[in-house]
Amino acid sequence: MSAEATNPEAAPTDVTVRRRGRARIDLRRLGRAALLNATAGPAPRDRLPDAISHVAEAHRAHHPEADLTVLGRAYVLAESSHRGQFRKSGEPYITHPLAVTLILAELGAETTTLTASLLHDTVEDTEVTLDQVRREFGDEVAYLVDGVTKVEKIDYGAAAEPETFRKMLVATGSDVRVMSIKLADRLHNMRTLGVMRPEKQARIAKVTRDVLIPLAERLGVQALKTELEDLVFAILHPEECETTRALIADNPGADDALGAVAEQVTAVLREAGIGAEVLVRPRHFVSVHRARLKRGELRGCDFGRLLVLVAEDADCYAVLGELHTCFTPVISEFKDFIAAPKFNLYQSLHTAIAAPDGAVAEVLIRTHRMHKVAEAGVVALGNPHVGQESDTAGSQADDGERVDPTRPGWLSRLLDWQQSAPDPDTFWTSLRADLAEDDEITVFRADGSAPGTISLPAGASCVDAAYAQHGEAAHTCLGARVNGRLAPLSTVLGDGDTVQLLLAQDAVSGPSPEWLDHARTPAARIAITGWLRAHPESAAPPAPTDPRPQVSVPADRRSGAELHADLDGEQPAAVRPAGCCTPVPPDEITGFRVRGGSVTVHRARCSAVDAMRGLGREPVTVRWGDTPQGRVTLVAESFGRPGLLADLTEAIATFGAAVVSANVEPPSEQRVRHTYTLHLPDVTGLAALMRAMRDVPGVYDVSRAHPSRGVS
Ligand code: MN
Repeated sequence: MSAEATNPEAAPTDVTVRRRGRARIDLRRLGRAALLNATAGPAPRDRLPDAISHVAEAHRAHHPEADLTVLGRAYVLAESSHRGQFRKSGEPYITHPLAVTLILAELGAETTTLTASLLHDTVEDTEVTLDQVRREFGDEVAYLVDGVTKVEKIDYGAAAEPETFRKMLVATGSDVRVMSIKLADRLHNMRTLGVMRPEKQARIAKVTRDVLIPLAERLGVQALKTELEDLVFAILHPEECETTRALIADNPGADDALGAVAEQVTAVLREAGIGAEVLVRPRHFVSVHRARLKRGELRGCDFGRLLVLVAEDADCYAVLGELHTCFTPVISEFKDFIAAPKFNLYQSLHTAIAAPDGAVAEVLIRTHRMHKVAEAGVVALGNPHVGQESDTAGSQADDGERVDPTRPGWLSRLLDWQQSAPDPDTFWTSLRADLAEDDEITVFRADGSAPGTISLPAGASCVDAAYAQHGEAAHTCLGARVNGRLAPLSTVLGDGDTVQLLLAQDAVSGPSPEWLDHARTPAARIAITGWLRAHPESAAPPAPTDPRPQVSVPADRRSGAELHADLDGEQPAAVRPAGCCTPVPPDEITGFRVRGGSVTVHRARCSAVDAMRGLGREPVTVRWGDTPQGRVTLVAESFGRPGLLADLTEAIATFGAAVVSANVEPPSEQRVRHTYTLHLPDVTGLAALMRAMRDVPGVYDVSRAHPSRGVS
C-alpha cells in the first residue's frame, strides 16, 4: 500500500524528543473525555453547555477567533431532540454527534462544519426538519446536514450500491465538508461497533475498508484513515491483529531505538542552526503488519518513523542536506513530495538514514503547515466559502486540480466520471478499481506551456496520462515522449517520469480499441469506451499489419541530379548517387570509383565513406551540376493509424515529387517506419517537403535515410 512508502501514519502515542506546540492529534483520548461530559445536560441560555467544552476548546485551538455561540445553540437543539434516544451501547444518543464533532474539531474543521456535525442525525432521526435547521442555522448548515443525511442512507443498502454511490457523490460532491462529517461519523461508529452482532460488524467493516478508508486517503485525512484501518483490521483479521499486537508488545525497546536516532538527529540539526522538532512516530498496527510482510523481520527502528517539523519549506531541504551529510542516506527511499505534491495535497520529504550501528530509520520532513494538511487533509481546508488564509494548501496549488478547495482533484474527477459513465455498473466497477489502487506515481508534464505534475495509479500508461491531462481532447493523442524519447502510448510510466503528449491538431481519428488494453484509470476507460460506443465504425478491425510492403514501386535507375566527377585525365565515367544516403544538392559529397569504372557519390558524412577510406580506397572529387532535380530517400517515423500512407503520399505528390520506391515496415509497438525514395523536380524544396511530411498527423519525425539507421 502506498501509505507504507508515501504517507505518514498516525500512531497511538508520540515520544517527543523536542516538542513545540501540538504535533499530533489524539482523537481517542478527547473522544472519551467528551463522552464523560455528554450527560451533563443543557446549560443556561447565555453560557456554553458544559458538554461541548471539549469541542469548544479543540475548536479554539485551531480557530482562536471562532464564535462559539452557534455551537452552543446547535448542541441545545441536538440534545433536546435526541433526548430519550439511546445508542445500542446504552449511552444517550447525543454522545454520538458530540464525539463526531470533537473528531472534526480536533482536525481543525471550521465552525459551520462543526455546527452541521452536531445536527447531522437530527433530520434523519428526530422531529427536527431541514427547514427548521435552515431557519435557525442558515442555508450552509442545512445543506451540509442534508448531504450527510443522504449519504447516511447509502451505507447499508448494498443491493443498490452502484446507483446509491452515484447519488452519494452527487449529494456530497459539491461540498467536500459533507464527506468530512461522514468520515468522522464512520470513525465513531467503528469505535463503538463492538456492541453489534459479528455479521453486522463484518459488513460495516467491509464497506469501511472498500469505500471509506480509500475516501479518507484520497481526501488526505490521515488521522482518520489510520484509526479506521486499525479498527477494520481488528474486525476482519483478528488473528493477524493479535499477532501484530504481540509483536509490538515483544519489542518494548522500539521507541528507544528510534529515540536514540532522534537524539542524534536533534544534535546534528542544532549544530547546523536549523530550528526543528524531532518526533518519534510509532506506526499504527496495520502499518506494522505491512512492514512485517514486506521485510520479514522487524528491527527496533522499523516500528516507527522520525518526523522532523520545521518552519519553512526551505528548511525542509536544509534538514535533508544535513541528514544526508551526517548520516548514510538510503537514497532509494528518498521522495520529494514538496516539489511534486500528491493529489490529496500531501507534502513532505521522505528519506531514510542509517545510524552508525546500521539501524535504518525512515524520516519524514515537513513544515507545520504541511503537517496539518497531512493529518487533516481537506478538513484543514476550512470554510471554502470565505477567503482562505494563505497558509492553506488549497490556495497554493498551481495545477488547476486544487483551485477549488471544496472539490479536490480526485473528487472533481469522480463527479465528472459519474456524469460521463454510460451506466452505474461501469461507473462502480471503475470506481472500485480506482479506490483499490494501492500505489500511485507522479509524472511531470513537459508541454512547455503548462509544466506541472499528474498523479496516476502505479501501472498507468501514456494513455492514462493523456486522459488525466487533456480529458476528452486525448482522443486525438498520437503518441508521447517519455523522458524525452518517443514512446508508444502503451508505455507504462514510472514514478518521476517526464511525459510529453503529442496531440493531433485536428480530430483526424479517435482512440483505437486497443487503448483499453493500456488504460488503467477510470477516466481513460470511461472516455475511451464512450467514444467507441459513439463511433461503432471504429470498432472495425485495425488496419492490416501485414509485414509485406504495402506499396512497391519498381526501382527507377535514373540518376537524378546531375553529377560530375573530377577524374584523372577528365576520362568519361558514369557518376551516380549512392543508394545508401541518396545525396542531393547542396549536400557535401564524396565519390568513390567502383567496379566497372563508374563513380558512386555519397554524402560526405555517410558511414560508407569512412568504410571505403578504411579499405584504402581513394576518394574522387565530385561536384554537383546545375540540374536542380535529384533523388532522395526519406524515412518517416509515425504512429500507425488508418490512412497514414495515403496522407503521406498525398503530401509528397503535392510537392511534385515522384515516389520511386516506398517501403512500410511492419508496425512495432504502434509505431511504423515508412521509407520513400523520391525523385524531386527541384531539390531546393527538400526541406519544405520534409516539413510538410512532418505535419501529417501521426508523423513525429522525417529524416534523410542513412545506412546506420538500417535503411539502404
Ligand atoms: Mn451519525
